[in-house]
Amino acid sequence: MPQIIDGKLISTQIKDELKEKVAKLKEEGKEITLAVIQVGNDPASTVYVGNKKKACEYIGINSLAYELPEETTEAQLLEIIDELNNNDMVNGILVQLPVPKHINEEKIIDAISPLKDVDGFHPQNVGKLSIGQKGFVSCTPAGVIQLLKRSNIDIDGKECVVVGRSNIVGKPMSVLLLQENATVTICHSHTADLKEVTKRADILIVAIGQPKFITSEYVKEGAVVIDVGIHRNENNKLCGDVDYDDVFDKVSAITPVPGGVGPMTIAMLMNNCVESAL
Ligand code: NDP
Repeated sequence: MPQIIDGKLISTQIKDELKEKVAKLKEEGKEITLAVIQVGNDPASTVYVGNKKKACEYIGINSLAYELPEETTEAQLLEIIDELNNNDMVNGILVQLPVPKHINEEKIIDAISPLKDVDGFHPQNVGKLSIGQKGFVSCTPAGVIQLLKRSNIDIDGKECVVVGRSNIVGKPMSVLLLQENATVTICHSHTADLKEVTKRADILIVAIGQPKFITSEYVKEGAVVIDVGIHRNENNKLCGDVDYDDVFDKVSAITPVPGGVGPMTIAMLMNNCVESAL
């Protein structure tokens, strides 16, 4: 039976550690405030924003909610970001993505002060990550590293394959693994023989956005499999990019969906918020 990596448990441990840190900061008279901006009322975004607010409450971080109508213009949003950038009471700023189509996402990410960019999406923070300087790191890949470390899975010297090269998951994931001294291969939709590459992985990290795509044929015996994907099927049941049941008997450790990577993203966001106040 493989080790089932419990993201719920590990994320709770992290949040509890942060709660203590925040309490100490409060004793020193320091409050932490996260501004969360949602434009429009996409139901999935509303759920994510709600979960972020709940996590803030749990840890003792103040959250400032901006629920803006769908018709908000790019200029109006940029103005709010500018105000928050200049507000010393606000430590972190988060704009829930995606924003409506009439707003240029790249412009919004660029407008957030890199010092308040708790999502770690600003080009300055992405650049810092790639040259090993301290900055905010994208929460999902940072969460995967914590999952591995806190499950006592060695990364150093391991053959790691990341499937997916998005700016928020795949690319920062591969840089973080490299920092941990793994040998890293990145795959994407143009990879010629995906199975041949994924079967080399001691640690296989999948972030492709294709439900149950990775079956046992893609996985080496005894591999560690981290499933970043999250999908809701027609019966309203959640599943990942990995066919969990199919690979289960072949792997040495695996993250479930739900309860694997998902809860870690918010825990690492909270971590970035605390960092933003230090
Ligand atoms: P994107 O759609 O931005 O990127 C998907 C990547 O996968 C692309 O690089 C794409 O390649 C690659 N890809 C797609 N299909 C294949 C294929 N058949 N073979 C090889 N590579 C493929 O997705 P994200 O990175 O944003 O998200 C990935 C998944 O993770 C989604 O299911 C998303 O919901 C989930 N997610 C979960 C989070 C969490 O907190 N648990 C947070 C963020 C995302 P190419 O570049 O060539 O197009």
